[in-house]
Amino acid sequence: LNSEKSALSPADKEFENNIRPSAIEDFSGQPQLIENLRVFIKAAKMRGEALDHILFHGPPGLGKTTLSRIVANELGVNIKETSGPVIEKPGDLAGLLTNLAPNDVLFIDEIHRLSTVVEEYLYAAMEDYRIDIMIDSGPNARSIQLSIHPFTLVGATTRSGLLTAPLLSRFGIKSRLEYYNADTLQKIILRSAGILQTKITSDASAEIARRSRGTPRIANGLLRRVRDFAQVLSNGIIDLGITQHALRALNVDEHGLDEMDNRILSTIIDKFKGGPVGITTIATAVGEETGTLEEVYEPFLIQEGFIMRTPRGREVTPKAYEHLGKKRPGREGE
Ligand code: ADP
Repeated sequence: LNSEKSALSPADKEFENNIRPSAIEDFSGQPQLIENLRVFIKAAKMRGEALDHILFHGPPGLGKTTLSRIVANELGVNIKETSGPVIEKPGDLAGLLTNLAPNDVLFIDEIHRLSTVVEEYLYAAMEDYRIDIMIDSGPNARSIQLSIHPFTLVGATTRSGLLTAPLLSRFGIKSRLEYYNADTLQKIILRSAGILQTKITSDASAEIARRSRGTPRIANGLLRRVRDFAQVLSNGIIDLGITQHALRALNVDEHGLDEMDNRILSTIIDKFKGGPVGITTIATAVGEETGTLEEVYEPFLIQEGFIMRTPRGREVTPKAYEHLGKKRPGREGE
């Protein structure tokens, strides 16, 4: 099960949209962030102004797109959705911006993938609600300034480390989404099961929650697969037995770790004696970018106590050895 949105099939996307909460009350978790957003939204509405530009950053599947739609919904405005790689030239962006109604939301997913020219073009739009457009061509070509309606840019990224300082500074609100605890994930699973009109026992939902890598997208994806097993192999009710059977059949890790998580842990153990080892060295060994390792994988492994960050690099914990069924070095006598 992949947690990247780009890996989702059209059917997956449709499923996600069906169970995606659209009101702020239906969004579980991220309490601090939600509390702040409520205040900012209310203030902007009272003043009749566009809400400040917002950046949501954090690992995939934690609710960045969901929150962006909720923000627009709560503001009572329309949202236009696009993504960094889709906006190829300034003209594409100008087209989007000039079509916004006052105080609308423009959502740019994967905003770290904007090209430099498009990004620079965005600055004046964000700051002064104006854009430059070229008219005429050849020797008569000249650019004129055009005012656009006030709008809210909501950017989402898994890689905030790749954003430039000038772009970052133009977001008045920057929020990091955190991994969800099992209780909150269980709530999300129960809500989704309700929408799917599927019966699920409390212990079954807790089991799925525990093995979902702190990620609502993974939790919902597992629920959907487990539901298939319940339908075909039993009476359609998801109980603990069928859940455990399904998760075993799907090769879902006991702690919800994915393939890359496990590769990182076994690499540190097998190639670097458990560490400490530098993050760049680990990245090369597992064939992943250092930044992705740091922003997408490592936070969960640290939070769950599989890896420690030390001044000399990353070190695996006894929990990692235990999880992978590997022996800790120099402990034969124990
Ligand atoms: P991101 O944009 O961060 O990759 P999404 O917003 O697309 O993640 O969320 C992925 C899926 O998880 C969606 O189907 C959404 O319904 C669900 N989801 C995410 N966060 C929550 C939440 N806090 N409460 C309920 N469902 C959530």
